[in-house]
Formats: sequence, C-alpha cells, structure tokens
Amino acid sequence: MQTNLADFIKHTREGEEADAILRKCVHCGFCTATCPTYQLLGDELDGPRGRIYLIKQVLEGKQATAKTQLHLDRCLTCRNCETTCPSGVQYGRLVDIGRKIVEDQVPRSLPQRIARTALKEALPRKWLFTPAMKAGQLVRPLLSKALQNKVPARQEAGIWPVRRHARKMLLLDGCVQPAMAPNINAAAARVFDALGVQLVIAPKAGCCGAIRYHLNDHDGGLDDMRRNIDAWWPLVQAGAEAIVMTASGCGVTVKEYGHLLAHDAAYAAKAKRISEMTKDLSELLPDFESELQNKLGGKIGKRVAWHPPCTLQHGQQIRGKVESILRAAGVDVQLCADSHLCCGSAGTYSVLQPELSYQLRDNKLANLQATGPDMIVSANIGCLTHLQSGTRTPVKHWIELIDGALSRNA
Ligand code: SF4
Ligand code: SF4
Repeated sequence: MQTNLADFIKHTREGEEADAILRKCVHCGFCTATCPTYQLLGDELDGPRGRIYLIKQVLEGKQATAKTQLHLDRCLTCRNCETTCPSGVQYGRLVDIGRKIVEDQVPRSLPQRIARTALKEALPRKWLFTPAMKAGQLVRPLLSKALQNKVPARQEAGIWPVRRHARKMLLLDGCVQPAMAPNINAAAARVFDALGVQLVIAPKAGCCGAIRYHLNDHDGGLDDMRRNIDAWWPLVQAGAEAIVMTASGCGVTVKEYGHLLAHDAAYAAKAKRISEMTKDLSELLPDFESELQNKLGGKIGKRVAWHPPCTLQHGQQIRGKVESILRAAGVDVQLCADSHLCCGSAGTYSVLQPELSYQLRDNKLANLQATGPDMIVSANIGCLTHLQSGTRTPVKHWIELIDGALSRNA
C-alpha cells in the first residue's frame, strides 16, 4: 500500500514504524473474514482492513472524528487478523499507534473519560485494587449482575511452597490476578516446586504495563515496564533462569518490552534481555513433560474444553502446547468450534464495550459447552473471569488442574 504521511508524524519513531506496517498491507481483505467484530457488525470499518484504512487516513493528515474513534474502540486487539494476514502486517502495533493519535485529536465525553481514567488508575495499583476487590467479594450477593460479573467469588490461594531450590525463575505476580484468583500463581509455584524449581516474586514488580498502554497512556505504560525491569534486573543478574507468565495477556506485553523500549538508551538492552527471558508457563513445562507424566501417571481423567486466549494463540503465536501438556497428564482435551475467535474479554474491553463483549462471550460459551466438558480451562485471568460470569461449568486456569492432580498424587 502506498503511503504519504503528514508532516506531524512523518519523521517520528512511531510514524516510521506505522509507515513500514502500512506499506506491507496489500489490502487483500483476507483478515476481514476472521475478525470477530466484523463478523458481528458486518461493517468493513469494523474489520481490520477498514481500520487500517482509517488509521492511514489519519496519519496522512485527515482529521479523526468520533466515528473514527468508535471503529478503533470496537477493535478487541485480539490480533486474529495478524494470524490470518499472509503479508505479516503487524496490526496490533499499528492500532496502538493509531489509537493514540486519534485520542489526541478527538475529545471524549465526560463519562468515557471517567471510566477510562478509573480503569487505568485503579487496575494497575494493587494497593487500591486488592482491597476494593475484597470489599466487593464480601457484598457480592448484593451486587448487580453486571458487577457480579466483574467480581469473582472469593478464592483461597492454598499453601505457597517454602522449599528452596538451586534452580530459580521469576514469576510476575501481576496486578488484578492475585486479588481475583490468587490460586493461579500459587498453583504454578507448587507445580514448579514439585519439579525442583523455585518461583520467586520480585516485590516491586507489578502491572506489566498493558492496561495503561492499551488505554492510550503510552508514557504511563512504559513507566510500568521500566519499574518491572528495575525490580527484576538484580534477580536476573543473580541467575534467575526465566520470567514465568501465568497470564498470557501479561506475557504478550512483557515479550514486547524489548521493542517498546528500544528507543530508551537506559533501558533498551535490559528490556531486550527481559523479553528474551519471558516465557509462558506452557513454554516451560514441556521440558518437564516426562517428570509430569511419571508423577501424574497420565490419569487426570477429565473432559476439558480448552479456550486458548488470543494473547496466547495470536499475540504470542503459541498453539498446541497446553493441549499437549494436558493430554500427557491424561486429560481429554477438546477444542471447540471457532476456537480462534476472541471470548470478548480483551482486557478492559468488557467494561468499555459490554454489548459486543457479552455477545462474543455467549457465542464462545455455546461452542465450549457443545464439547460436553466437565470443566473449561484457559490461560488468562481476563478470559477466565469473563467466561465464568456466563456459565455454571467451572472455569479454571489449566495449571490449577495440573496442581490439583499433583497434590492428590503427593
Ligand atoms: S492486513 Fe493483511 S490480510 Fe488484511 S488486508 Fe492487509 S495484507 Fe490483507
Ligand atoms: S485485532 Fe481482532 S477485532 Fe481488531 S481488527 Fe484484528 S481481528 Fe478484528
């Protein structure tokens, strides 16, 4: 695609990046067919090709409008279009750049400003979010259905292993996950402990930066990333082998630190190293597959519907690994129809675009339930909470299944 970027953006870092991405797009439209919002709304401008065109117009100097903003807001950033695209168009980066410019050009209404500010200021701050979540859980039965959907029932974390191992890996505790589902990180720590690896949390690390960055506060998001790098760096130098992610939404972001901070002379090299060390749980556990098979005897014996989060299958391009680990443990793993489609959670999307979000959730749950599962498993806190809000079938992180079986076998 030919481009002619406007002077305001032409020679900037983001302008050059966006220009290179736009030039790869041949406008073939293959991506449109796999876009969840195009499937629901049937409008070209609610599909990737249309959004790319809107962003191109803005970068070429056309004033963005509220309509431009709406079509970009409706994008889930699921990156399904990247998986489909034969030309390697990095749509996710382009939409981040485009949204920020549109945000600067189009003022939002007061309710929108309040909602977005509340999300980006409250969610990443554990000291604020955790007590709020606990209070919500105490009065959960009195909350409206809409709020109950966002406040999962209280969960116990279980015991954090105290054994010390020579092999150590860092674990990102995250921002909302410890309050909403504390068992996930504890389960990961127990599984790794059983395999002879100690998972260590750096106390000063927190939100991966995705919340602020994707809400167009790029500076705030980059500050979160720098803070995490500062928190992890001494432990990396002390010999930590990897940085383990239990939420694929965080994993995809930390893997991008190297790219996002490449312009920052003080952090570029460290950020690159941190990204290289970052692994989703499902990338690490195959190294221990035979040990897991020995310990579990391959006999979990449940029928499980696996929902691969977009941040895992499209963002990180990791496919088949969780299924393989679960199958080795004896699980009857089912992939549902249209498993490439987003469940509608998409970070803060379920709050900001509830109508589309719940349509996608209900479609996803219908497909998952059609496989007749005892349980639904996924790999991202947002997907887990969103799906659980629409079904009585238990929805868990897959590592909880492995942990439960290991504890029974212990
Ligand atoms: S993003 Fe890729 S698939 Fe979509 S129109 Fe452009 S080249 Fe085609
Ligand atoms: S990221 Fe997802 S919702 Fe957005 S354009 Fe691509 S496929 Fe559609």
